[in-house]
Amino acid sequence: MQYNYIANASVPSSSGKTIAMLDPSDGQTFDEIQRSNAADIDMAVQAARQGLVTVWSKLGAAERGRLLMRLSLKITEHAAELSAIEQRDCGKPTKQANADAAALARYFEFYAGACDKLHGETIPYLDGYSVLTWREPHGVTGHIIPWNYPMQIFGRSVGGALAAGNVCVVKPAEDACLSLLRVAQLAAEVGFPAGVLNIVTGYGHEVGDALARHPGIDHISFTGSPVVGTLITQVAAQRHCPVTLELGGKSPQIVFADADLDAAVPAIVNAIVQNAGQTCSAGSRLLIEQAIYEPLLARLGTAFEQLRVGPASMDLDLGPLIRQSQQQRVWDFLSDAQVANISMVAQGKVVDEAPESGFYQAPTLLRDVPIDHRLNQDEVFGPVLCAMSFKDEDHAVELANATQFGLVAGVWTRDGARQFRMAKNMRCGQVFINNYGAGGGVELPFGGVKSSGHGREKGFEALYGFTTLKTVAIKHG
Ligand code: NAD
Repeated sequence: MQYNYIANASVPSSSGKTIAMLDPSDGQTFDEIQRSNAADIDMAVQAARQGLVTVWSKLGAAERGRLLMRLSLKITEHAAELSAIEQRDCGKPTKQANADAAALARYFEFYAGACDKLHGETIPYLDGYSVLTWREPHGVTGHIIPWNYPMQIFGRSVGGALAAGNVCVVKPAEDACLSLLRVAQLAAEVGFPAGVLNIVTGYGHEVGDALARHPGIDHISFTGSPVVGTLITQVAAQRHCPVTLELGGKSPQIVFADADLDAAVPAIVNAIVQNAGQTCSAGSRLLIEQAIYEPLLARLGTAFEQLRVGPASMDLDLGPLIRQSQQQRVWDFLSDAQVANISMVAQGKVVDEAPESGFYQAPTLLRDVPIDHRLNQDEVFGPVLCAMSFKDEDHAVELANATQFGLVAGVWTRDGARQFRMAKNMRCGQVFINNYGAGGGVELPFGGVKSSGHGREKGFEALYGFTTLKTVAIKHG
């Protein structure tokens, strides 16, 4: 049984109710979390405010950084344990779970070093005046986190907020949150003061909604679906609470005929099969210049046929999807493809060892998918790649920008001038040229435009979003 973590203590929900945790690899219940409610959120917000006022706001920035660094080292010490927890909770293959634990440690390392480097400015003004700006923390920040990368998204969101001097109330996803409850314990062990990091589990419409509505929450960082992002914005707007939204994507991979295909092919495959396609930045649309459309599809088809899907512990190319409803969602998209006579180029294979009760889906490559079909417009959030051809650069730009989303674009070309033109013409938050998200990118600001959200997390830029600017004008002349 797992408990909420409030003021450095494990506490049950006042509801007395729990939620069963399922292992996606076999669909079986293996643990329970608290089904919390508004009273639990209230308790966490009060603990957070107390921690802020009595201790956290009085710590120097360097001391805050030292604490974050101690947590980073502790996470590294416990990386195998955290990875095993996340693997079971989310169905991640071992390699992915290990990478996520390493990224979590790296976020706290990066933000530990950033704490004492967040400066204000002095501004020339009227004679006899001095004007300066201070970057002040919002206060108590609320963090609503999805199930696809609990450790990574916690690291980037909570790491940045704490570094900027805030204290946090976190609502992780009901489908996967066990690693975060353990990280909160580790934070207490390295000396985090009570109330600085609080975790309350439960359903989104109950406890997530209560968090967004609570008057003691001074800023909300939401990572999740566009639909819930809208709900949170509406709720927060009632009391003018600032919101950062990290929403979904329908990101294009654009391959020109002059591209280095040996480099592009593995990156294109990885961008859609990583985490079984349940990645906001998944490269889910493939735009190929006409001259190389057939040969590139043939190469990718061979690569897809070799992909293997199985239980997380087998550490294959893909693990299961998170839950049965997600599996059904992918099936619905694929049956729509059949109805529309969209052809399949190739499919990977679910291994025989995969239990029938697990939530498996073979990775699938489709071709000639019309740009206005929902396969090209909506997030599948599964391992389905939709290919289409383009005539020239203008056509590529038009297709790439023709969705409601604007998160990431990948461009593959050796033409230097075209690299810059494409980067400029993409309506999205980040463009990768001749690579796709290598190295984790903890240092790189990340976020979207349009329905992919607004605000930036990751990198130093995140600290601006987790602070508010105060201008101080002093007349001394
Ligand atoms: P979701 O929006 O259903 O849930 C996300 C979180 O919001 C969960 O913790 C959930 O409990 C909570 N929630 C649900 N309803 C709520 C409500 N009414 N009020 C408050 N909180 C509520 O999304 P999901 O299915 O968990 O995650 C998948 C989505 O997240 C995809 O759209 C994906 O692209 C997106 N995502 C985006 C990023 C990014 O950085 N842009 C990263 C990861 C995932």
